[in-house]
Amino acid sequence: MSHTDCIIIGSGIAGLTTALRLREAGFSVTVLEREQLGREASWAGGGILCPLYAWRYPEPVMRLAAAGMARYPSLIEELRCKQTTDPEFYKSGLLIVDPIQTPHEAAQITAWATHYQYPHQWQAAEAHFSHLPHQKALWLPDINTVRNPRLLHALMAAVRQAGVRLLEHQPAQKLLIQNNRILGVQSDNTTHSAERVIITAGAWSGGLVPGLSPAQIFPVRGQMIRFEPAPAPGLHTILMDQGIYLIPRQDGSVVVGSTVEHVGFDKRTTEEAIAHLHRKAVALWPNLARNAIAQQWSGLRPSTQDEIPYIGAHPEIEGLWVAAGFYRNGLAMGPAVAEILTNLITGRPAIMDLTDYRLDRPALF
Ligand SMILES: Cc1cc2nc3c(=O)[nH]c(=O)nc-3n(C[C@H](O)[C@H](O)[C@H](O)COP(=O)(O)OP(=O)(O)OC[C@H]3O[C@@H](n4cnc5c(N)ncnc54)[C@H](O)[C@@H]3O)c2cc1C
Repeated sequence: MSHTDCIIIGSGIAGLTTALRLREAGFSVTVLEREQLGREASWAGGGILCPLYAWRYPEPVMRLAAAGMARYPSLIEELRCKQTTDPEFYKSGLLIVDPIQTPHEAAQITAWATHYQYPHQWQAAEAHFSHLPHQKALWLPDINTVRNPRLLHALMAAVRQAGVRLLEHQPAQKLLIQNNRILGVQSDNTTHSAERVIITAGAWSGGLVPGLSPAQIFPVRGQMIRFEPAPAPGLHTILMDQGIYLIPRQDGSVVVGSTVEHVGFDKRTTEEAIAHLHRKAVALWPNLARNAIAQQWSGLRPSTQDEIPYIGAHPEIEGLWVAAGFYRNGLAMGPAVAEILTNLITGRPAIMDLTDYRLDRPALF
């Protein structure tokens, strides 16, 4: 039997950033990962640090994403000081070719950008890139991107340096609970005892949290491709149209995503989806026609019925906390989620009103 102050279940962006903050707060921390460390949704994602068509989301999603986005520069600086892998964080900007789908949408966009103080400009799409159609595009020059597999690497190195125990191939199989108080976690043949357990298990969280059902947090598959770097002229901003986005990496390769598929816990990639992404990508940035596909993959976004994550203390079990259901925006939200959890656990003031994220909010279905 091993003992630690806090056990975190899951080593995605939510688990690793929380491990860093809890360790900083003075707790001993163990992270249990059922598979390889940091290889699920947080690895598979695109790394755009802003929700896509952000103004279409419920307000609690926009708010949490904004809080996460605001915390990135200091997180990246912290990782840089620890001399970890370079997460390739940079201000790529985001050009949305088709931002307006309804008569009221331009006003909604202006309200969103003004409220969160994001510089935004309306531009003729073809003025930005001459091959694009003649329509009113939205340019968000301050949006950042991160190369998320590298970010996870950097976070793993940082938490290890800080003294966190990272255990892979250690699935949490059972929460140990007595008299409505958490005592630890059972994993294979090992009992991990702890006064505090935090579930950050992504799409798998629904099956772990007492009282939440797998129907309340469920997987939504996203397939992606990455084009090999090609000769200039390269792409230097994120380009988005009709739900498909192109993300330039700093080595000149271009990541294209993504599909939105309700196929359960199935992470296979399909030829149809790859062909679809390829066709859309070349239509949006014709130079890509010359580039080979270097990689294809998929990941399981942890979704909820109202697209709002669950964050907070378990309403009935003392010592149990949950942060899951970040759907398409968990990378953007991560640093804020870690701070929210740490403040809850240490009793510090909350950075925002958390009512909308509570676990016992009414389910929609
Ligand atoms: C294709 C795609 C593109 C995306 N693009 C973006 C983007 O551009 N920007 C953005 O902000 N977000 C994006 N997202 C969403 C983002 O990746 C997720 O919201 C986020 O990664 C969720 O993080 P997480 O830590 O909650 O889950 P995960 O990263 O899935 O981590 C959960 C971890 O828990 C582990 N686990 C599960 N059960 C157990 C158990 N019983 N015991 C131990 N460990 C367990 C899993 O193995 C996993 O490693 C994208 C997602 C996908 C799939």
